[in-house]
Amino acid sequence: MIGFIFILGAVLGSFLNVCIYRLPLGKSIVFPPSHCPACHARLTSVDLVPIFSYLFLLGRCRHCHKPISARYPLVEIMAGLGFVFSWLLAGGNVFDFIFFAAFISVSIVIFFTDLEHQLIPDGASYFGIALGLVYNFIRGLQTHDWSPANPFFSSVGGVVVGFGLLFAISVFGKFIYKKEVMGEGDWFVAALLGAFFGWGGALMAIFIAYFLAAIAATILLVFKRAKFGGYVPFGPALVLGGVIVLFFGGPLLSWYWGFFL
Ligand SMILES: [Zn+2]
Repeated sequence: MIGFIFILGAVLGSFLNVCIYRLPLGKSIVFPPSHCPACHARLTSVDLVPIFSYLFLLGRCRHCHKPISARYPLVEIMAGLGFVFSWLLAGGNVFDFIFFAAFISVSIVIFFTDLEHQLIPDGASYFGIALGLVYNFIRGLQTHDWSPANPFFSSVGGVVVGFGLLFAISVFGKFIYKKEVMGEGDWFVAALLGAFFGWGGALMAIFIAYFLAAIAATILLVFKRAKFGGYVPFGPALVLGGVIVLFFGGPLLSWYWGFFL
């Protein structure tokens, strides 16, 4: 079963690669069929087997022999592993698995488009927000609890808190530094985290994201890959924070509260 789940993730990973390449260019993700970005040769089934095509072709296009980005197999492996861990986390609950795997998929697209193009496609964020709201609406129906603790109310609150917090930081940062400290795309990613994890989970994910971004910025400065005050995309840190909350949110929260209780 685990093998099947991995293959499912890797196959979806190929589609995520198409999204990562085409969404920032404003191209359709369903048409036309895949082609080599360098020589435009139409790719056939031999070129499109996840992970294996890349290995078999030694990382080069079969037609023009230009190198293929290592991001292609990397995304396929990440999606495969993400699906396996989602399956294990869901503990056989197919409903949970579908939404965990969908969250991982949207996160992968946002991670790489922001890293490669400093751009987060709105479509990916809106899709993620809708998924999170639907997931928690169905969970909310099952609880029969209509207090503010209902997952759906927490999810709606999370969208408002996540979006509102980063919007406020943007406005405040612009006032202090007289320049953009954050892209608008990041506001919607924070809303997406809120939709999935509720306002508490979103705050935790955003906190972790700042921590990760600080580490990444320090490493980039030390290795002189970035200059002080330069732009560091925040989207990858945000979705990584979300993934950490997905897998470790429960234990992290009890560890955190352990200091106070
Ligand atoms: Zn080519």
